[in-house]
Amino acid sequence: MLDEVRALLILQDRDRRLLALAKDLERLPQDEARAKNKLAGDEAAVKKAHDALVDCELRLKRLELDAGTRRTTIQRLKVQQYETRKNEEYQALGHEITRYEKEADDLETRELELMEEMDGLRAAQKAAEAALAHTRTLVDEDLATIVRRRERMEAERAELVTERDQLAAGVSESVLPLYQRLMKTKDGMAIAPMHEGKCGGCHMKLIASTVVAVQNAKEMTRCEDCGRILYAEE
Ligand SMILES: [Zn+2]
Repeated sequence: MLDEVRALLILQDRDRRLLALAKDLERLPQDEARAKNKLAGDEAAVKKAHDALVDCELRLKRLELDAGTRRTTIQRLKVQQYETRKNEEYQALGHEITRYEKEADDLETRELELMEEMDGLRAAQKAAEAALAHTRTLVDEDLATIVRRRERMEAERAELVTERDQLAAGVSESVLPLYQRLMKTKDGMAIAPMHEGKCGGCHMKLIASTVVAVQNAKEMTRCEDCGRILYAEE
């Protein structure tokens, strides 16, 4: 292999690693978003449990008010009943009092049921909050892992950039622009191995004189089809 091609091959290896790193770094924000998304379901469950509890509290308050109104009415009717001198009115008031007492009792029974329901809803809310806290711990761990991964990749990238700049400085100025152009236009592969008479980049069969030239390695030879710089696999 030509020394120049060997040097380019090392440079290409570092450049390809840099490209892969850049891709991995680009993916990190998506990984972060995915981790944070795991919280959404649990947060919604906490909100739902909270809303159900608030709704139950409201219903209970309404019942308490209704029962209170009945009790006030009963008091008023009892005073009326005490003050009346007419037997008929006395009895009519008595029926009304019984009716209101029945209603008030029913409302109080319903209050007790709602209080029980509230206990259940409070427990459900606690459970939902515990589940959210657990998920949050896991998500925080995931996010911390992503931060460490980013730091590691950025350190690796800084090292690689230094190394690739040194390697590029050692490549002759007549070849470097061609290499860089091919890296950009040929999918990050400027230097390709020749394999069984075919270009390892575009996989086209090479003409015989090109195959021989690559094998002789006396001068830089390019694929006549895609233009990549070729080397014979050793
Ligand atoms: Zn080719």
